[in-house]
Amino acid sequence: MFDLQSIVRPNVWRMKPYASARDEFKGTASVYLDANENNLGSLAGNNYNRYPDPHQKALKSKIATIKGVKPSQIFLGNGSDEAIDLLFRMVCRPGQDRALFLPPTYGMYEVSANLNDVQLDTVQLTADFQIPVADVLRNVKPETKLIFICSPNNPTGNSIRSEDIEAVLDNFDGLVIVDEAYIDFSDEPSWTTRLQDFPNLVVLQTFSKAWGMAGLRLGMAFASEEIIALLDKIKPPYNINEATQDLALKALDQDEQLKYMIEEIIQERQMLESALSTLPIVEKLYPSDANFILVKVKDANALYRYLLDKGIVTRNRSSVPGCQNCLRISVGTTDENQQLYQAMSNFEI
Ligand code: PMP
Repeated sequence: MFDLQSIVRPNVWRMKPYASARDEFKGTASVYLDANENNLGSLAGNNYNRYPDPHQKALKSKIATIKGVKPSQIFLGNGSDEAIDLLFRMVCRPGQDRALFLPPTYGMYEVSANLNDVQLDTVQLTADFQIPVADVLRNVKPETKLIFICSPNNPTGNSIRSEDIEAVLDNFDGLVIVDEAYIDFSDEPSWTTRLQDFPNLVVLQTFSKAWGMAGLRLGMAFASEEIIALLDKIKPPYNINEATQDLALKALDQDEQLKYMIEEIIQERQMLESALSTLPIVEKLYPSDANFILVKVKDANALYRYLLDKGIVTRNRSSVPGCQNCLRISVGTTDENQQLYQAMSNFEI
C-alpha cells in the first residue's frame, strides 16, 4: 500500500519552509520596505526590482484550467529538471534509498540520482523500447522510492504502453514519475487524467517543447495535493522568475497558435520520416510520437561528424546502450529538414 507518510524523508516532514517577506505580510500597502529590494526601480524594466510571486498563483490558475486539474495539484519548476531533482530530495535519503530507471531514456534521472547520492537500479527497456514489467517489479527493493518512466520516451520517441505503466503504478509502493515532456506531440491521453486513481503518480510536463519556451525554463509536475504541497515546501522560494511568469501567462492565451505549431511539427516529422526512409544509409527509423526521430545507420559516429562538417548538429546516441549507431534528430523547419535530407543523401558509407 502506498503511504506518503512513510516514503517522504523525515527531515522534509520536520523542516519549516522559508517564509518570504510577502508571505508574512499578506495585505496591500503603499510602501514596501520588507524585502531589501531596490525601491528606485529596475535596470531591466517592468517591475523586476520586486521579487516574483513565490506561489505563482496567476500562472497556476491558468494552467489548471487548461489541464483540467486543481491549482493545488500543480508544481512549477525551473524546467521539469528542477522537479526531477526535488523529487529525489523529497523522498530519497542520500546513501540509503534507491530509484529505478529504464534506459535508454532521459539522462537527467541518472544525473540527479548521482548528485543526490541515490543508488540507481537499471532495467533496460525491451528491444521495442517497452517496459519489461516483471523485471521492473523484481528489481524493486525495500529502499526503492522512485521509478522513472518517460513517455513518449527520449531518445527513442515511442510511447510506453499504458497497461504497463498502470501495472507499475498498481504494484509499486513508491512514487512513479511519468515524464510527459513530449506528450503534446502524441495522440496518447496524458496521465494527468488518472491522478485520482493513483496516489503514487507524479506526471511531469514542460513548456520547453511544444510551447517553444525552452529558454524561459518552466516545467510542471502534477500530482496529489499532498505531494505538491511537499514539493512547494522544499523548493527555492523564487524558483520561477517574474519574466517567465509574465511571458508564460501571455503564451497560455495563444492556444490556437499552439495547436497550429504542434500540427506543423508533426507534419514535418512525417515528411522527414518518409524522406529519410528512402535513403540507403538508413537502417532503421524508430516510430516517433515526439518532435524528434531516432535513426539507425551503419556508422553513426561517421555520419554525425559528416553532418557537423556541413553545419548540421544532431545528437549522437551511439554510445548509449540500446541505441548503438543511432542519431537522435530533432524535427526542424521545412528548410532545415531539407538541408538535413540533402546532406544525408550525399553521405557515402
Ligand atoms: N524530460 C525529458 C524526457 C526531456 O527530454 C527533457 C528535456 N530535454 C526534460 C524532461 C527537461 O525539460 P525542461 O526543459 O523542462 O527542464
